[in-house]
Parts: sequence; C-alpha cells; structure tokens
Amino acid sequence: MRIKAGLIAALAGGLLALGGCGGGDDDRDPPGGFVPVAAPDDGTPVPSPATLPPGFAYFDSDQYWAVSKVSETLYAIYEPNYAQMNVIYLLIGTERSFLFDAGAAHRRDITKVVKALTSNHVTVMPSHLHFDHIGGLPRFQDVWFIDVPFARNLPTTNDGLVTVPPEVHFGGVDPAFAFQIPPVKVTRWVKPGATVDIGGKSLKIIWTPGHEDAEVVVYDLTDNVLLTGDHMYPCDLYVEKTTDYLQSASMLLGVINADTRLYGAHCANTGVPLMSYQDAVDVQTAFRAIQANEVQGAPISIPGYIASGLSYVVNSTINLLRFLVFEGGIVFGLE
Ligand SMILES: [Zn+2]
Repeated sequence: MRIKAGLIAALAGGLLALGGCGGGDDDRDPPGGFVPVAAPDDGTPVPSPATLPPGFAYFDSDQYWAVSKVSETLYAIYEPNYAQMNVIYLLIGTERSFLFDAGAAHRRDITKVVKALTSNHVTVMPSHLHFDHIGGLPRFQDVWFIDVPFARNLPTTNDGLVTVPPEVHFGGVDPAFAFQIPPVKVTRWVKPGATVDIGGKSLKIIWTPGHEDAEVVVYDLTDNVLLTGDHMYPCDLYVEKTTDYLQSASMLLGVINADTRLYGAHCANTGVPLMSYQDAVDVQTAFRAIQANEVQGAPISIPGYIASGLSYVVNSTINLLRFLVFEGGIVFGLE
C-alpha cells in the first residue's frame, strides 16, 4: 500500500506529531494549490500567502488564523499555517458560547478571534490533551475537562491548577515544537455523558477514549452536529488503544443518526472537515475487522517522521494508523 499523500504533504510541511494531516487521499496536490507550511508558533510571519480551502477566510493580516462560518451557531477556526493544521469549533448559544479545543498556538492569541465571533461568556473544553489542542487553554478563564481518571490524575496543585505534562501532550514528538504549557485552572469537571445547555442549544459531552484516554466529542443535539476532535477526521487517524477506539466508535453510532453531520479537528484541505454517518460506520467496520484479525495493516515508515507503523484502509478518505514508532523514539498505539 502506498503511503497516503496526506502524510507526505504533512512531512513536507513539517508535520511531526499526532493527529494531523496535510493532504487528501490521492497523490495529487491538495485543491487550490494549498500547501501547508511549517510556520512554527513563535510569531514568525507566515512565509507566503496560502490559498485557503473553500469557505475559509483569514481572520486578519497576520494570516495565522482563518475562519469559516458553518452555520449561524457554528464557526470553524483554522490554523492553516501551523504544521498540525488544527480546526477548532465555536458553538454559539444565546447565553454562552462553547469553544471545542483551544488550538495549537500557545504564543498566538486565539481569544482575539473568539471575541470577534461572540460577545458571550466563553467556555473552552479540549477534545483531548495532546499539545495541538491545548496550546491556547491558559488564555481562558473558564476551562472544562472531562471527569475521567486519566485527566483527574494529572499533576494538580493545592490551588487547583492542573498541569498537562509532556508525556501526556506529546509535544516532544518533535523537539522543534516541544513546549510546556502553563498550568490550567479547571473550572468544571464534566461527567461523561453530561448535557450542557448554552442557551438555545443543548450539547452532550461524550467520552470517546481510543486516540487518547481523556478524549471527548461534543454532540450538538439541537442541530444534529457531532464535533469529533481527533476521534474522527477525514484522513489518517492515530489509534492508541484499539479496543477502546472500537467501543467508542460503536457507542457513538447508537447516539447519532443517519442525518448527523460530523466535523473533525484536522484535514481541512477541501474545506471544513465534514464527514457522514457512513464514515462513522466505516470506522467501526474497520476496527471490527482488525479485532477479528481479518485484515493486515500495511507497513509504513516515513523518514523524518514515523520510523514504523501499520496503516489500515477505512474508506476513500480515512485510514487507521496503529503501532506507531516516531523517529526519536516516541511510541504510540501499542495495543
Ligand atoms: Zn490533533
């Protein structure tokens, strides 16, 4: 099996960590000539104007943040010129707004974007605790974490400041991107399955371990939208724990329905990364085949990025990556 263009583009763009994707499913360049560039999150000017995917516009002349209005109550905030190319989602309620993920950037200020989109009080909750989703967390006053042992066991001071250590956020996959974010004051520990009313919109916080033990997805019950974080996005998914991932994928299929629109946290090369219920079914099917030993993964190795790993085809856009050993020695997904 060939290595996906996404990984090659990601490598060219300096993608060196978990959960990102830089390209589509074929060997062509991404549409619109969009090429990720490895602009580190250090204030370095973006090297050249990148052509954004359809629907996105740059937020300001800095050209770090881009925004797409998905609906009257949902915005996608994109980091196209950061190696991980994260997509963050802002849900607008009448009483408060809910930011799902804080972005990779820890030196660039995501709050200026959020404030331009909503005047509400903003609650932020990370989809999980890898570095590319928590960089902006310390900038927010109201930070929610999922109330599961993996998160509860993080180092915490007497003042309630929670530290996400490098062995959890994995920023050290590439020393060039390694950082230690300041401790975060967690204002609410959300029980798995809790429903939150933000005013005219009900959100269900669903615990979905598999990529990471404290991972959640957010189901907008009002608009039938599922924000999937790194649990699902339309390219290469990084599997940490196969059994957990399958259980999460199966559980979600019992929650959403055929009309649910799913939006992931990476792979926006062709626009806001939208997926369908069928994609979720396909992910479950692929995991079941793996568990039943019906399929064999194809070995992958990418110089400068992944020393070894196995890739499994889910469908025309999604693959599962397991048993990854990154160059530099970090291992990910050994079960
Ligand atoms: Zn990610």
